[in-house]
Amino acid sequence: MSILLQIAVAASLALCVLSAQTPTSHASGPAQFDLTAIDKSVDPCVNFYQYACGTWMKNNPIPADQAMWGRFNELADRNRDILHEILEAAAKPSAGRDATTQKVGDFYAACMDEKAIDARGLTPLRPELDRIRNLTDKSQIASEIAHLQAIGVGALFEFSSGQDFKDSNSVIAQFDQGGLGLPDRDYYLKEDAKAVELRQKYVAHVQRILELAGEQPERAKAGAAAVMQFETALAKGSLDLVSRRDPEKVYHKIGKPELAALSPAFRWNEYFATSGTPEFQSINVSHPEFVRTFNALIENAPLADWKTYLAWRLLHSSAPLLPTPFTEEDFNFYGKTLTGAEAMRPRWKRCVDFTDSELGEALGRKYVERTFGVEGKARTLKMVAALEKALGEDIQMLDWITPATKAQALIKLKAITNKIGYPDRWRDYSSVAIKPDDPVGNSFRADEFEFHRELNKIGKPVDRLEWTMTPPTVNAYYDPLMNNINFPAGVLQPPFFYNNGDDAVNFGGIGMVIGHELTHGFDDQGCQFDAYGNLKNWWTPKDQEEFRQREACVADEYGGFSVAPGAFVNGKLTLGENTADNGGVRVALMALLNTIGSQTARVGGYTPEQRFFLSFGQVWCQNAREAALRLQVQTNEHSPAEFRVNGVIENMPEFQKAFSCSLGQPMAPVHACHVW
Ligand SMILES: [Zn+2]
Repeated sequence: MSILLQIAVAASLALCVLSAQTPTSHASGPAQFDLTAIDKSVDPCVNFYQYACGTWMKNNPIPADQAMWGRFNELADRNRDILHEILEAAAKPSAGRDATTQKVGDFYAACMDEKAIDARGLTPLRPELDRIRNLTDKSQIASEIAHLQAIGVGALFEFSSGQDFKDSNSVIAQFDQGGLGLPDRDYYLKEDAKAVELRQKYVAHVQRILELAGEQPERAKAGAAAVMQFETALAKGSLDLVSRRDPEKVYHKIGKPELAALSPAFRWNEYFATSGTPEFQSINVSHPEFVRTFNALIENAPLADWKTYLAWRLLHSSAPLLPTPFTEEDFNFYGKTLTGAEAMRPRWKRCVDFTDSELGEALGRKYVERTFGVEGKARTLKMVAALEKALGEDIQMLDWITPATKAQALIKLKAITNKIGYPDRWRDYSSVAIKPDDPVGNSFRADEFEFHRELNKIGKPVDRLEWTMTPPTVNAYYDPLMNNINFPAGVLQPPFFYNNGDDAVNFGGIGMVIGHELTHGFDDQGCQFDAYGNLKNWWTPKDQEEFRQREACVADEYGGFSVAPGAFVNGKLTLGENTADNGGVRVALMALLNTIGSQTARVGGYTPEQRFFLSFGQVWCQNAREAALRLQVQTNEHSPAEFRVNGVIENMPEFQKAFSCSLGQPMAPVHACHVW
């Protein structure tokens, strides 16, 4: 249930290395927000996003291999360049390499050796394909699925560990729906022309992958149809994305006997044995209907269809490390069709990202040694303190919450802990064998390590030092079950954070991010968890009703934004993020004003408040392809960049005052929403 700030689009791939921005270093000097990004032909009161970013958008077209291109990506590219240097050096075999350097270096080198990968063909995958082909009875499916999941193949469902929503000090087994090749269940169920066309393209993609794996065209065609039928059945038994945001709807704690009763045809004992799951009493089954659904598939679908489905999941998951025809076909659907990207990213970028995702804390350790200083950590902590103080004042001032609920909110705020930069204790990968000539095996072994690491937490005390993002990540998260906020080193840089920089710019950047994450503790999801991370109501009924009304205002506001014909933002899916954006910016501005007192000096012609809003707006400067935006509004809890900016400032009298807007102008609507 981590809640991310960044817009993440599946298979959004990068090409051009934009030049790194050189941070300037003091408030009285040149402005640290980008004056050249501004489009002065636009009235900020009419469209602030266009004003803040218009010239940037004109000057920064989307690279061919990208679905979206924004200032987040520029920073991610700079971080990736550092990782690239580290990995190129680590990949050179030398006697003096330490164990961590050997692992990340050989992992990267194996991934980079395209010639060897092409020459090997499907040989590295052959033992796994044979295992599936040799299944003789549906009673073997449970065990095979456990094996595939362990090596990183997303087959049928997700199984892991996690804190008990209602007893956050215990770690229990967690079952979740899964096993789909399209981005969400609605892609299988919607009947509009675009959805139908996309499904046809998906089936053609599955067919081509099966053909590449050696299937005759006619058999591959029948196989792809079977996969579609199979996944459509799973989709019908899946819970929709909006419902999945409601913690009560995804909490069903049961025991092994109840699980067995839901799915008598699935051999759970063999599944648990093969997966190496520790003994346990309780499991949270997010959506019991999904278990009934796959039980029916075991009973009714022929073994041949199961084999085709499992082979497809294996080939799909391994495609990035298979010979060129597979990577190209994978990009063709998941990159080109789904996101609109025109070209594949260069291999080194894919391999850097792959190393980050598979051995993240080994590579991250090297990254932190190179980049992150004590100074950055100290200044970030100071800003977190300023933001927490401002949110406390904000809660005190609100007129719609009664003192009883206010007191509870303040207890929760005080209990929020924070983690900055990187883990205090690094993950130990010593048991993972990494070889320079075995990319597929490396990936299986790294996934197996991670799968077992997660399962082995069941029944153990909660590890509060653990991170769910790697240090170079340009992102941040609030975790409602830990009640903590987390800021990887990767995001504590320009344009979010300038060491020794202008306070107005830093509060509009990383200050807004800190405020965003803190506010998540009080959005429509977060507010259902208490100070200890338990799903437990701490609201009076009257306050709850007031809160619901204010949230409905935000849901309606964002639900009115559209990105393309017929493609509207889903106000309910994005409600938590939009609430966090609105609260975050308001609280960050309060913290800025607390910090700078009566200073009003202009920089670049702009007051501190104006610089704050420009810094905030420019963090989100972005160009995006229509396909990527359509995908985003269907599947992503984050609103598109333009609305993350305009949707917020339309609710802020502070903005309207800073830019002298008059009531009734587009950025100063008569009806504004205000939650936190
Ligand atoms: Zn968020």
